[in-house]
Amino acid sequence: MLKLLILASLSTLIIMQIFTNRLAVLLLGVLIFTACTENSGSDSSHSFSHTQGVGSSANGFLSSTDFTQLIIEIDYVKGFKPSQNALDDLKTFLNARLNKPSGISIILDDEIPSPGNTTFTSQQVYELEKQHRNTFSMKNTIAAYFLVLDGAYEQENVLGIAYFNTSMALFEEVVQNNTGGFGQPTATTAESSVLMHEFGHILGLVNNGTDQIQDHEDMSHEAHCDVESCLMYYAIQTTDLMQNLMGGNVPTLDEQCIQDLKANSGK
Ligand SMILES: [Zn+2]
Ligand SMILES: [Zn+2]
Repeated sequence: MLKLLILASLSTLIIMQIFTNRLAVLLLGVLIFTACTENSGSDSSHSFSHTQGVGSSANGFLSSTDFTQLIIEIDYVKGFKPSQNALDDLKTFLNARLNKPSGISIILDDEIPSPGNTTFTSQQVYELEKQHRNTFSMKNTIAAYFLVLDGAYEQENVLGIAYFNTSMALFEEVVQNNTGGFGQPTATTAESSVLMHEFGHILGLVNNGTDQIQDHEDMSHEAHCDVESCLMYYAIQTTDLMQNLMGGNVPTLDEQCIQDLKANSGK
């Protein structure tokens, strides 16, 4: 069973489950998790599966016990390259929370041609990952993957999704279409927020792979925080995010989310 998490901030798209019946959905305006099962066939490491549920490898990312280093591979559709500022924000966020003494690297890898889709299902996103991903967890290094796409998620207003234990997608065209205008946040602020929010799901937030110490999971939006100003608030993934970003600042984790990560060997 796999779960996919989808996050969207500006416009939200949603993902659905494809294989299994379990569709955990997180929506901001629209968020979703998907569950599915299948082996990637491309795992190259010692029994490390990259097709486990979202949040199931949280401890591997947070702790230095099994992995001392993190590499994040990013493939992007031509014309939709994420901003360097957003990647820097993601790296800063992860360095503050993960115990990775050998370092955290972000590799802006392949520029890929447009798949030509107006919308994507989570299965289609995964098919693209299988086609383009070439960094996997092995030895002391755990790997994560972001696919930056044109087009939109099959569900409206989703900005991003996390769909396996190390896999995420950013719907950059939706981000661009909902930023930069009057009354809208900048694309960079939105990109940073969605990248960090999705990675928060990979880290098991909230109560989805990393146990919650205090009750702060939003009962109306699974795996999200009930603190409106928190990075893990559900609306961060959707177009509703706009309001949260009007100050121009990327949301941060609230104390309860940080407490959860620390209790699961993070910092
Ligand atoms: Zn979310
Ligand atoms: Zn929180």
